[in-house]
Amino acid sequence: MAATSSYTISKSSFIAGSQCTKLLWTKFHDRDAFPEVDEAKQAIFNQGHEIGDMAKLLYPGGIEVAEGIYGYAESIAETDKVISRRVPLYEPAFEHNSGFVRVDILNPTGEDSWEIIEVKSGTRVKDQNLVDIAFQKHVCEGAGLKVSACYIMHINSNYVREGELVPAELLIAEEVSEDIKDLSGMIPERLEELKKASAQVKSPEVKIGSHCNAPYECELKYRCWKFLPEYPVTDLYRDTKGRRWDFLEKKILSLTDVPEGSGLNAKQEIQRKAANQGHAEVDKLAIKDFLDGLEYPLTFFDIESFQKAAPPYDGLRPYRQIPFQFSVHVQDGPGSELKHFEFLAESNDDPRADFMEKLIEVVPDDGKIVAYNASFEKSRIKECAEYLPQFQPWVDSVLDRFVDLLVPFRNFSYYHPDQHGSASIKKVLPVLADTDYSGLSINEGSAASLAFVEMVFDPETTTERKAAIREGLLEYCALDTKAMVDVLDALREKV
Ligand code: SF4
Repeated sequence: MAATSSYTISKSSFIAGSQCTKLLWTKFHDRDAFPEVDEAKQAIFNQGHEIGDMAKLLYPGGIEVAEGIYGYAESIAETDKVISRRVPLYEPAFEHNSGFVRVDILNPTGEDSWEIIEVKSGTRVKDQNLVDIAFQKHVCEGAGLKVSACYIMHINSNYVREGELVPAELLIAEEVSEDIKDLSGMIPERLEELKKASAQVKSPEVKIGSHCNAPYECELKYRCWKFLPEYPVTDLYRDTKGRRWDFLEKKILSLTDVPEGSGLNAKQEIQRKAANQGHAEVDKLAIKDFLDGLEYPLTFFDIESFQKAAPPYDGLRPYRQIPFQFSVHVQDGPGSELKHFEFLAESNDDPRADFMEKLIEVVPDDGKIVAYNASFEKSRIKECAEYLPQFQPWVDSVLDRFVDLLVPFRNFSYYHPDQHGSASIKKVLPVLADTDYSGLSINEGSAASLAFVEMVFDPETTTERKAAIREGLLEYCALDTKAMVDVLDALREKV
């Protein structure tokens, strides 16, 4: 049943509605259904604001139009007041036919035209950015503005910091006026559709599908996907062919109901079998082969890192991972006592040299170095040596000694249905060992990065909070390497 539309479709609503009308409807009618903004999301917003502020420096002398104004009508009135001054406007607001936009930067060109600049903290123009800016152009033109060109300003991934940050080099304005021409035709029609969907009394019926994960992972999956059984077909590993959606369409919800000979690949077939038997599928020969490749002393090695769009130190590109912490457990022989070593940077100074010095001090000269998803650890130390060549000989000498503990799980040599199609250590650990992250104040990698950034970069972090973060980080990283020891012990028991 439809009622008269009184819903204003903002940029974010337009993008949400383009992904799923049920998602859009819920934004208007059941706001409480959305989880609170967590720290990770807040950090992404903060990064966006930082890049947004930097972009404004490239259009100097402008007016901040709607700062601190949240109401639609007030921000439009404020824009009206200043638009005749023909200077860059930051966040001016426009409305047309119930579509509402705030433009990141509106830059005057020629006598009476304007350029729309949408600022993004990604490193390239994405499809959803084009839809976003096409919608902005439609609303601005509908509101009477002459738009001469549209740009997406994004991070230049080739920028390397040397000395002071140079916003004009860090950011690239890519013209997309041509790219959005084809999209422009569908905008008015979609706006009408979204207005209609918003005004429905009941939520639109939308089946779950690939749209739940793209372009953004939907925050409502916890609700829409909860009808799925214990081992759902959505667990299928690397399901590039979208078999999960075919099964759901045929009302096959559980992996246990997928008939034999359904054309699953070898790993998916292992998942089906494991779900049916309710316990792990184990390829003892493959695991034995893996274990035979280990040579003592074993060095269990884990790195924590952080990244920023605007590189904080010299020699770095945007979003380059910067190692700030490691944990190392050394075991001299099977079952022998573990020795633990760790490093955690103290301040916001470049941690790379101290990190490498301490690492070289504690890693034994022989034996294998065990990491989980070892390419990450290898890449970090290689990058450190690129910038600090004094460490190159050591890095060259250890790269061949790495063993990746992810391998038996990525190859499905061991697979338990409770891993739900994932080989991450957080999924593997609970099915193999008693080690538990749940009681820790920091219990996953992205939380560790955020906590570190808060500890050393945020001037408002109190001494007590810093001490608590430090303790949490040390505890978490140490558990990461201890977890590897436990996983390895458990694998040995299996064979
Ligand atoms: S989980 Fe999927 S179906 Fe549910 S609202 Fe989100 S995108 Fe729509």
